[in-house]
Amino acid sequence: MKYGYYSARSLISLFDVELPPQLDTYKNFELIPLLKIIMARFNRRRQKLKNINTIDDVINLIKNSNNIIVLTGAGVSVSCGIPDFRSENGVYSRLDEFDLDEPQQMFDLEYFKICPQTFYSFAHELYPSNYEPSPSHKFIKLLEDKGKLLRNYTQNIDTLEQKAGITRMVQCHGSFATASCIRCGYKVPGNYIEESIFKKEVPSCPVCPKDLDDAILKPNIIFFGEKLPDEFGKYFQKDREKCDLLIVMGSSLKVSPVADIIGKIPHHIPQILINLESLTHVPPFDVQLLGYSDNIIKELCRKLDWELEDVNINKNEELKYTLAKPSVYLFEGAKYNEKKTSKVSLISALFAGIDSDSDSDDFRTDNNNNENVTHHNPNTNPIIIEINNTDEDDDNDDDKEKVIRNIDQHKENINHDSKNNIILNDNSSNSSDVNN
Ligand SMILES: [Zn+2]
Repeated sequence: MKYGYYSARSLISLFDVELPPQLDTYKNFELIPLLKIIMARFNRRRQKLKNINTIDDVINLIKNSNNIIVLTGAGVSVSCGIPDFRSENGVYSRLDEFDLDEPQQMFDLEYFKICPQTFYSFAHELYPSNYEPSPSHKFIKLLEDKGKLLRNYTQNIDTLEQKAGITRMVQCHGSFATASCIRCGYKVPGNYIEESIFKKEVPSCPVCPKDLDDAILKPNIIFFGEKLPDEFGKYFQKDREKCDLLIVMGSSLKVSPVADIIGKIPHHIPQILINLESLTHVPPFDVQLLGYSDNIIKELCRKLDWELEDVNINKNEELKYTLAKPSVYLFEGAKYNEKKTSKVSLISALFAGIDSDSDSDDFRTDNNNNENVTHHNPNTNPIIIEINNTDEDDDNDDDKEKVIRNIDQHKENINHDSKNNIILNDNSSNSSDVNN
């Protein structure tokens, strides 16, 4: 990268970002907010730890860590018979009969207000009934019993964490344990609406006047467009400073803000993925154990010489695997995607009205801005931009860092340049003033 004048468009391409055709007509200055977001993302991307690579490293980490954050998603409950949302045969794939614009609409607050019948004609399928915790849940309980669990952040609403006896836990997306009136906020225990759920009826508020259309009860699972429960921000602000190991289990990390947890923990803290498939839209984990999480958990317990309640572990037999690369283990069922390009709806942040500053929040910032965080639907905005996620060392990194330093130094001037070009100066010399 030489010094001189550059358009925002050309600098964006330097960061391996391919702009969608919808932005072809955008003027240079209109792209500057996007460039800032891209720079912020580049700055806070996490590098894989070079010394953590093997399953034995994972065993040692678990042995020596005392403040483990476990982030769980639908993958830990699939073996219990609970349908997940995003897989091929998941909940979203079965919503055709409901005449929705998109499957996520089933869990959209605005849509619920207009048409609650749709949700209540389906809710019985989600209602936690006679399911039993999986070995994966039991493993998290065991971590807690051994004093190693800092917190289990779960995206699941099936309450199997409670059933497994896990107490250090935040249900990030709420649960069926309570329900509230969407008009007055009156809260009832979950079993108050149980009968309505199974009769596929819309339950009305017991305290509001009967003739009001919007006096209806909604289970306190978090819909798109709703704020996350207060506990999420309250605990996470402290936990991210204390955490000494992050294990992501059974989550495709596609829904913000829970998915953003991995970027907000100090980067030197080891991150392990236990999941059916590899995730190409996030920075590489230090070790990836891919396959059925229950099997992988049993293998970890075997190596740790730990007993799992009511789970049979064959102490003498190692679980078979192949290596996709030195830190990526493929166990039975694993889906490994080698593609390095992934689609990320980064630009939706701009159009959703989230300003670029909130995107630059990282673990170093102290301000609790969680109050404004809503459950963000990644599919509401159709504009997708491509980001090349290379997990190898990138030769261009020096160039990119140079550009960021340069732009950071002249923040005020970028928007005022008459040609709306971005001027890159030689920062090493003293004559680094921008001359318009
Ligand atoms: Zn009410």
